[in-house]
Amino acid sequence: MDTMITIFFFVFGITFGSFFNVVGLRLPKNETFANDRSYCPSCKKQLQWYELIPVFSFLFQGGKCRNCKANISFIYPVVELFTGFLFAFSYFRIGLQTELITAILLVSMLNIILVSDITYMLIPNKVLLFFLPFFLIMRMVHPLDPWWSPIIGSIVGFGIIAIIILFSRGGMGAGDMKLFGVLGIILGTQKVLLAFF
Ligand SMILES: [Zn+2]
Repeated sequence: MDTMITIFFFVFGITFGSFFNVVGLRLPKNETFANDRSYCPSCKKQLQWYELIPVFSFLFQGGKCRNCKANISFIYPVVELFTGFLFAFSYFRIGLQTELITAILLVSMLNIILVSDITYMLIPNKVLLFFLPFFLIMRMVHPLDPWWSPIIGSIVGFGIIAIIILFSRGGMGAGDMKLFGVLGIILGTQKVLLAFF
């Protein structure tokens, strides 16, 4: 394994993690995130480039906004580091193969969901619907063995959570059900059960 490439994936990951924070925070509120500068959620002041460096900005500013001194949620650096480590780990485990694309997409989707779920306690449909076609394509490019495992996996993942929702009344939500439907496609039947446990 090439150390330089692993480091590249880590840096690539923390940079994308920074973007996933913005997407996870703004998407459920229907705010744009593509061409809008980042701002402090407290005082709404636009952030300078040096306040947007993943992980380091948080550390240098001592976890506070430079303008209003409001505490910055530790979620931001955690998601950045998480994404960085998981991108690097994906490369480390899989190498430069087509399944690496699936892993990067999965890590990306889960980190955006992590931000939305912690902040608003919801899993946005838009995030699942955005990633779903990519996973379907990846399962055609790189089928699992047997090829129908993702189909059954999706039904099983969706079904287990549906049953839990019926019997637990509030333990899990419709978002979890749809998420596990998507996870089933990526992981196949056996691993979606593993993911559930
Ligand atoms: Zn502020």
